[in-house]
Amino acid sequence: GNKNINAKLVLLGDVGAGKSSLVLRFVKGQFVEFQESTIGAAFFSQTLAVNDATVKFEIWDTAGQERYHSLAPMYYRGAAAAIIVYDITNQGSFDRAKKWVQELQAQGNPNMVMALAGNKSDLLDSRKVAAEDAQTYAQENGLFFMETSAKSAANQRDCRECNQYRIQPG
Ligand code: GDP
Ligand code: MG
Repeated sequence: GNKNINAKLVLLGDVGAGKSSLVLRFVKGQFVEFQESTIGAAFFSQTLAVNDATVKFEIWDTAGQERYHSLAPMYYRGAAAAIIVYDITNQGSFDRAKKWVQELQAQGNPNMVMALAGNKSDLLDSRKVAAEDAQTYAQENGLFFMETSAKSAANQRDCRECNQYRIQPG
């Protein structure tokens, strides 16, 4: 039979890391150079057919600014999955990603699936965070890891499949 699954997904990470751009890529297949910064948080949904199930992703794209930090638990509480995003050209954003991982490990749902995304992988010449360091950190903390580019759509093989399986436009 056909199953309907709702999956709450939250994106966390430093302002400017590319959270909104990754969501826009996932939901609409688009990229904009001048993505407006998120105020508070933004909600998106995307429904995909996966095997014999229909999965509705309910996506909370958070702001990342320190002044909204106290709101974060509202978005990660009850989330099935969290994507913690940093910018490979910004060491500080990687440090803040680690802080988010610590907070989720301490306060988040213990069954939550966590993934670390090193975004802006198209900006190789400006790289500040080695992929090996992030991979090692992810392994030690039980996170999935991949480098991504919302701009070039690199490493979004699954998203090409999304286009194929997409049920309704976001
Ligand atoms: P957020 O604050 O984490 O939501 O970051 P945004 O999605 O607003 O992106 C911040 C800036 O980085 C914007 O100017 C984006 O166009 C740019 N950006 C986001 N993702 C990428 C990427 O993969 N590659 C490049 N070159 N720029 C990106
Ligand atoms: Mg944003």
